Amino acid sequence: MSTAAISACDGFNASCPVGIAVSVRRDDGSVLWTTTRSEAWILGGHTPVIMVKGISGAYLLERVKRAQCRTCGQPQECCPEGCTQR
Ligand SMILES: [Zn+2]
Repeated sequence: MSTAAISACDGFNASCPVGIAVSVRRDDGSVLWTTTRSEAWILGGHTPVIMVKGISGAYLLERVKRAQCRTCGQPQECCPEGCTQR
């Protein structure tokens, strides 16, 4: 099992509890704003994956990023009703 894959999963899970807001880059390049519905895990011994709402099955963790407020850059859950950092 690759140590890079393990550290990618551990790093994501340490900072991103299940249900956190994320942005997902899809195959066609569009971005889906959603939330996670699992922890990240390693599929097949080498590929970090995660489940998110709106996509069935496991999705590549490298395409999933914690959502950030587009105004202040803080994690989006810090500004759920609009940015407070102006
Ligand atoms: Zn903000």
